[in-house]
Amino acid sequence: MRLILLGPPGAGKGTQAVVLSEELKIPHISTGDIFRANIKEGTPLGILAKSYIDSGKLVPDDVTVDIVGSRLNDEDCRNGFIMDGFPRTIPQAQLFDKMLKECHTSVDAVINITADDSVIVRRLSGRRMCQCGRTYHVENNPPKIEGICDVCGSKLYIRDDDKEETIKERLRTYREQTSPLVDYYMKKGLLLNFDGTKPIEVTTREILDSLKK
Ligand code: ADP
Ligand code: ADP
Ligand code: ZN
Repeated sequence: MRLILLGPPGAGKGTQAVVLSEELKIPHISTGDIFRANIKEGTPLGILAKSYIDSGKLVPDDVTVDIVGSRLNDEDCRNGFIMDGFPRTIPQAQLFDKMLKECHTSVDAVINITADDSVIVRRLSGRRMCQCGRTYHVENNPPKIEGICDVCGSKLYIRDDDKEETIKERLRTYREQTSPLVDYYMKKGLLLNFDGTKPIEVTTREILDSLKK
């Protein structure tokens, strides 16, 4: 299955992607995680991406599409994938369609998770990340031991861009550049909508049920 997760920052895309990836046995591809790994390693891509990410802006389309294209060549993507946070602009979506078409495939469904701004600000302010890709929340979804990942035991960290001013800018970026994708995929008949404010497991169940249909 070839899936896209769409939604504003903090809607719960990453949280759902980790579980869906295990359930559906397809890789979770997060462009945000790829950028953060490159920032940590200090690669040229990381240095370029950091300036955009820290100001709440999007990394340029050509750079982003290239990294997705090379990731899709990996063996594990042959039977499908969950794209988390890509595409985020209309040009990215168009280039992605073209890329898949060249491989004689296409997207099967777009999972659109919604949440309003007040919920998002609270979520991102309390978000804690693990380098293994798991995401926690200090109140909504705390780890068993404070500050430590349940699964891999690493120390959790706070993302540099999860601070109030940057969050506001990211929401603006979402509204201006990413939200037109809702319409784009609706017109293609691929959009499935989910209320991201329900408990995590409820949303997971709803997504899995609707994919079966
Ligand atoms: P969130 O899940 O909170 O929305 P992500 O981890 O998906 O955050 O992305 C973090 C940042 O990485 C974004 O704010 C943006 O700067 C950059 N980024 C991630 N995906 C893309 C993309 N598809 N196009 C451009 N920039 C991206
Ligand atoms: P995104 O990838 O869309 O930016 P995340 O999956 O990182 O969003 O979730 C943002 C924050 O909200 C995290 O701290 C996460 O633990 C929490 N969260 C995710 N889904 C829910 C939910 N359904 N209810 C409450 N909190 C949630
Ligand atoms: Zn971990």
